[in-house]
Parts: sequence; C-alpha cells; structure tokens
Amino acid sequence: MSDSKRIIVALDLPTEEQALKLSARLDPELCRVKVGKELFTSAGPSVVESLQKQGFEVFLDLKFHDIPNTVASAVRVAADLGVWMVNVHAAGGERMMAAAYDAASSGIGRAPLLIAVTVLTSMEQSDLEGIGVTRSIDEQVLLLATLAKNSGCDGVVCSALEASVLGAKIPEFIKVTPGIRLAGDDASDQRRVMTPVKAVQGGADYLVIGRSVTSAQDPVATLKQISLDLQNL
Ligand code: C5P
Repeated sequence: MSDSKRIIVALDLPTEEQALKLSARLDPELCRVKVGKELFTSAGPSVVESLQKQGFEVFLDLKFHDIPNTVASAVRVAADLGVWMVNVHAAGGERMMAAAYDAASSGIGRAPLLIAVTVLTSMEQSDLEGIGVTRSIDEQVLLLATLAKNSGCDGVVCSALEASVLGAKIPEFIKVTPGIRLAGDDASDQRRVMTPVKAVQGGADYLVIGRSVTSAQDPVATLKQISLDLQNL
C-alpha cells in the first residue's frame, strides 16, 4: 500500500473537549483519527469539523447496520461531512452495502472510503457460535469480505489475524485492523489482538489503535514510537 500513514487513533472519549485536548497533542502527519459511537453521540458532527480544522482526516466509525435506504442516507450525510473513511456492518448484506456504496460516491466532494466490518475483534469462536454461526472465524470473515467486495466497498475491518488470509484471497482490498496491543498491554475486552509491527507484517493496511495510545502515560511519545517502528519495517 502506498499510504505510509497507517495509524488511526481511536478517540474513544466522552466529550468533544476531552477529544480535542488529546488530538491537539497528536501530529496529523503521523496519524488519522477515529470518531466512534461514544464521542459522536455526545458531540455530533461538530467534533468531526473541529478535528478536520486541526488538520486530521477522520474515520467516522458508526458501523451502520440497518435497512438499505436508512444506511444509504446516513452514509450520504457522512460523505457531506467530508470524512475520509466511513463504515457499515457487512452482516447487513449485499443490498445494504451496495446502497451505501452508491451513497458514498454520490456527493460532490471526494467519496469517503467505504469499509465493511466483518467479525468484531472482541469476538471469539464461542461468541460466533452464540449467535448461530458455526463457520470458523476465518471462513466467516472471508465470506463477509467477499460480499463487501462484490458490493463495491473499498475494504474491511477485520483482526490482524485474518489480514493475511484475506490478502491472499482478495488482493487490493483495504484491511483495517483494530485489536492492536503493544507488548505488555492489557487486551481488555478485545480477543483477537496483535502488535502494530506484526499486524503490518501480516498484511494490515491501517491500524486502529485506541487505549494503547490514549491510555498510555505519554500518548504523544507512544504514537511517535509506533510510527517509527512501522517506518523501519
Ligand atoms: O482501545 P482499543 O484499541 O481496543 O480500541 C479499538 C477501537 O476500534 C474501538 O474504538 C472499537 O470501537 C473499534 N473497533 C473494534 N473492532 C471492530 C471495529 C472497530 O475494536 N471490529
């Protein structure tokens, strides 16, 4: 992948004020930022605009999953906000993702990258079985990624563990991987985790990193170190 800015810092914070205080210390040359459900529910589109004014490209991680018309309308609004990346749940199916794709590319500005979530990185095999999916995680991720590709999506969210499998089967498809942990970090609620260097070596294109940066004693130094480690690959 030609884009060397692989790190996306998840600003999983409860208020716009807290998010902007942290982002002001981060370097838009080293990372992009992700606005997820907590921050967006609390702050709304204004936080996206404020982050863009700070020079960041924004991944709006709201994981839309609804009927095609509703998802398409939401993606259109996200595109109008000028976000760099937006996502939907692949489990919403091919028609839903195709409607999202049409909406993403219908605006006047540059279309955001449309990414489909496959199997959440917090899930393990037993969790899949709990919702009636008997396939292995790899098979389920591949099935959903194939649907996403056929629907026009630019890539998927998957764990770094599946990135190499997908790279071999669906080349040229963006792989965004959360579940990133530094050596010695607590995995917390995540189950399928990997370090930044191993994730990129395994085929991840973009790394979503939340608590390993935002809860670090020195988030700025941590981000710089990860960025350096990746540059030296
Ligand atoms: O703190 P941590 O690094 O675990 O944060 C991961 C971020 O990535 C969270 O914002 C979470 O919502 C998001 N995410 C994820 N798994 C997915 C998709 C997004 O963990 N499949």
